[in-house]
Amino acid sequence: MKMETPQRLQPRGTEPVANEVSLALEKRLRAETQGEVRFDAGSRGRYATDASIYQVMPVGVLVPKSEADVRTAIDIARELRVPVLPRGGGTSQCGQTVGAALVIDHTKYLRRVLDVDATNRTVTVEPGIVLDHLNAQLKPHGLWFPVDVSTAAQATLGGMAGNNSCGSRSIAYGNMVHNVLGASAWLSDGSQVDFGPMAQAGASARAIGEYVRDLALSHREEIEQHWPKVLRRVAGYNLDIFHNQNERPYTGDGSVNLAHLLIGSEGTLACTRTLTLALAELPRAKVLGVVNFPTFHAAMDAAQHIVKLGPTAVELVDRTMIELSLSNPAFRPTIETALIGKPAAILLVEFAGGDKAGLLPKLADLAALMGDLGLKGSVVEMADDAMQKNLWEVRKAGLNIMMSLKGDGKPVSFIEDCAVPLEHLAEYTDALTEVFARHGSRGTWYAHASVGTLHVRPILDMRRDGAQRMRAIAEEAAALVRRYKGAYSGEHGDGLCRGEWIEWQFGPALNDAFRAIKERLDPIGLFNPGKIIDPPRMDDGSLFRFAPPQSPQPYRTIELKPVLDWSAWDVQNDPVTEETTAPGTGGDTTGGFAKAVEMCNNNGHCRKFDAGTMCPSYRVTRDETHLTRGRANTLRLALSGQLGPDAFTGETVREAMELCVGCKGCKRDCPTGVDMSRMKTEWLAHYKRRHGHTLKDKFIARLPDYAPQAARWAAVLNLRDRVPALARLSQRVLGITAKRPLPQWRTDTFWRAPESRRGATMEATLAAARAGQPAAVLFVDTFNASFETENALAALRVLQRAGCTVHVLDKGDRGGHHCCGRTFLAGGMVDEARARLSALVGALAPFADAGVPVVGLEPSCLLTLRDEALALGLGEPARKVAAQALLFEEYLARETKAGRLALSLKGVDQPILLHGHCHQKAFGAVEPVMQVLRLIPGAKPQLIESSCCGMAGSFGYDEKHYEVSMAMAEQSLLPALRQQPDAIVVADGTSCRHQVAHGAQREAVHVARLLESLLPSGNAA
Ligand SMILES: Cc1cc2nc3c(=O)[nH]c(=O)nc-3n(C[C@H](O)[C@H](O)[C@H](O)COP(=O)(O)OP(=O)(O)OC[C@H]3O[C@@H](n4cnc5c(N)ncnc54)[C@H](O)[C@@H]3O)c2cc1C
Ligand code: SF4
Ligand code: SF4
Repeated sequence: MKMETPQRLQPRGTEPVANEVSLALEKRLRAETQGEVRFDAGSRGRYATDASIYQVMPVGVLVPKSEADVRTAIDIARELRVPVLPRGGGTSQCGQTVGAALVIDHTKYLRRVLDVDATNRTVTVEPGIVLDHLNAQLKPHGLWFPVDVSTAAQATLGGMAGNNSCGSRSIAYGNMVHNVLGASAWLSDGSQVDFGPMAQAGASARAIGEYVRDLALSHREEIEQHWPKVLRRVAGYNLDIFHNQNERPYTGDGSVNLAHLLIGSEGTLACTRTLTLALAELPRAKVLGVVNFPTFHAAMDAAQHIVKLGPTAVELVDRTMIELSLSNPAFRPTIETALIGKPAAILLVEFAGGDKAGLLPKLADLAALMGDLGLKGSVVEMADDAMQKNLWEVRKAGLNIMMSLKGDGKPVSFIEDCAVPLEHLAEYTDALTEVFARHGSRGTWYAHASVGTLHVRPILDMRRDGAQRMRAIAEEAAALVRRYKGAYSGEHGDGLCRGEWIEWQFGPALNDAFRAIKERLDPIGLFNPGKIIDPPRMDDGSLFRFAPPQSPQPYRTIELKPVLDWSAWDVQNDPVTEETTAPGTGGDTTGGFAKAVEMCNNNGHCRKFDAGTMCPSYRVTRDETHLTRGRANTLRLALSGQLGPDAFTGETVREAMELCVGCKGCKRDCPTGVDMSRMKTEWLAHYKRRHGHTLKDKFIARLPDYAPQAARWAAVLNLRDRVPALARLSQRVLGITAKRPLPQWRTDTFWRAPESRRGATMEATLAAARAGQPAAVLFVDTFNASFETENALAALRVLQRAGCTVHVLDKGDRGGHHCCGRTFLAGGMVDEARARLSALVGALAPFADAGVPVVGLEPSCLLTLRDEALALGLGEPARKVAAQALLFEEYLARETKAGRLALSLKGVDQPILLHGHCHQKAFGAVEPVMQVLRLIPGAKPQLIESSCCGMAGSFGYDEKHYEVSMAMAEQSLLPALRQQPDAIVVADGTSCRHQVAHGAQREAVHVARLLESLLPSGNAA
């Protein structure tokens, strides 16, 4: 049976290939495929990491446009003897998606649903499709693919198959392997093989099947002896399809499906071309019982009994996670709904079925069971869908909350998915907790109690002694897994991190059998070498993203004096208490900027397309370069000198930053708080320092300075939009696109309106505040003052009519407006921005000192006071002003709710659509607009689920960005508007309103104007 082994490629997949080979590969890929071929250092660097601790530079990257491209690439790579690494979303946690190979990124183009057979409940897909996107397409059929991984919004079906992924509801639906019906794949010899039921296999698949079957037969005893008998086992190859050891049979009738050989093979056996999947009926109803436990041990012990009730999920949230959720204002109200007293842990027990009424007895059974276990009254019953959904969101946010820890010690994933039989879960978790304590760390536990796979990550500093501690903990954890007859790799795969444990788990004979499978399917070792077979040591520091000092190229950052204050990130932490040292003490050579960048752990959450803003440029390009993660990786590589000298201000970083619209979506949506908008400001300042400012930079940045003079020349300046030649000229000279109009200058600016001087004096406003009466200072920004006078006047009138004493902030004797510095920040002119903000803060300080709210209209301007102003070193006055700075709608919503202001408004019967400005979303200021809109009698405002409108200040005016800007608007905003042609459109951002006018030929109004239009006439203030 032994086959002759052809000469294999480099076994470990971590050694770089020769330069001339790489050049030849690039040249041939360009000539022979239609795909995007990327061999530049930036692109390679962006594909050198996944959500693990590892980093290995790929040879190059191909983003294929068709399956023919993939096939051709495999042929070329084989001929040139370069390894191939198929890739999905790159969210793997064990390093299986990194290697010195040609990376083939399937996510951009190979993401079609090829066939849905609703009757037989099957679907055939290309490997690059994301789970959530597939399920969205299946929903109209009442079906879904139920392997519901936490990364459903990023994980591709190809990657899920590669990892044999498992979802929260695996107890009900099984793992990936239980749900795959067929796979068509390319082998390394270029042949295409269809893997499916053994009984119907074609010649090639049958030959492979028979080979593996013989291996299984000859290793029957070893399989019985060494194979973990748990549902969650994802290590090695699925040799047991011929002698099942899994708690759940791989197929309904116990037959063999050869596609299952590829599941969990981590791209090491073949490159998947298509997958055929079994679908499930979408559960029509769900109920949730939340069991509160007095001790963690009791929760772990109860899991084995609870699963007997037939739940679809049993998920753990421990005390630390509960505390973290309670301390987060966004999660507190939700977690409180689940708690009875102060439990040490809770289990979320879900039951699903046809109708809610039929499920309610299940909750009663759960309560009765807990009573029998001595925990009477410990169950919170949740039948309400919204409450359940919110609680699941908190549970899913668990890892993210943990990962936001600042400092070099991070929760590290390497034993986080060991699976043990449920009867041993309590002992196992107790024992592992002791292991952590012995090694000076601590674990926070959460996730899949139903299947004995609890996630836990000890905090380790991989730049220092993390590797040694990791190995020591891994060895002790492994001994426990063996003692309790569990699986060392129960969810996240083997990769670089757990490959070396395969032999430990299965013994040398089965390890040799795995090698034989690899050699049968991929004799030259083309696919993803060094994974599953011939893995490196898990603690080989040279493969770490943050390589420790003893490695050949230790991770070091360059010296950089930041222009913004990043000291909050420049800290270290205590792995047990998680307390951080004082800001500025972390030893960062860039003052904390690099450590802020390094917060990106590559989990890929920014590759999302659902609710929220992050990341608009990725949503339209689907390109790793134009993604928060790609940008953070590019910055990290540049700041650590891995892209060559001066790379930080070089072309590679510029390219990655080009399409970042500074929307701050990531500031809110990124689990670890990567704030790329602020990072772009920092980078741009350095970049412009080196390369100088363009005419366009100055034209836009200085707009607040020249606006008063320009207003006088309104008629002349507005000719630009009436004479096409002038628009073209502005494009040629300034780079401002001729394809869209500019804001119209006007002579009747806010500052020229008599009403602007009719606000209360400073003294009167302070006096009102001192007397406990509603009082505010109105900050009128350049845009509303110069171009949309009506908005500022409307805000003033509405506030006054509601009963507020309003002082309009101006420059005193000189009149005119203060500037928040935003346009300067956007142009990289940080010193100029600081000067403007300093003056603004100075002017507002007396009000802030007296506790008078600072109210503004334009989200990006007002919120600068709550954000960038705090990073510019303006000290305590800036902090006080920030604490008082409120958007018009935030102030109005707060004060009307408290009964201090009251508005009488006429009703509307038209629908109202609200588009939130990105910065409103980033600061949670969209709901207040909805609240204010609900003050209108009869109004039923609807929020448009939109990301960025594409304008982002001046971004959409740039001729280079026009198409991308329009594509962003067309993602959801403009189609939503077109669906409701009669709706009133509310948008508080100046540039959003321009985009709506340009893209949908509709007028959008600031909420202040809508309210003003509904004030009953006759008693104007
Ligand atoms: C925060 C977080 C939460 C997670 N939660 C879960 C969870 O609940 N359950 C779970 O199981 N996992 C989880 N994971 C791990 C990971 O998200 C999943 O394994 C996911 O399915 C990987 O999908 P991907 O598209 O990112 O694959 P990738 O990481 O890109 O690839 C995974 C493997 O598949 C191979 N592969 C990809 N495409 C192909 C192809 N066309 N042909 C052959 N091989 C291919 C790759 O080579 C690689 O070995 C989590 C990860 C993170 C960061
Ligand atoms: S930027 Fe944030 S969301 Fe994106 S991969 Fe990094 S940590 Fe995750
Ligand atoms: S600021 Fe916006 S565009 Fe830039 S990376 Fe973050 S989400 Fe993406």
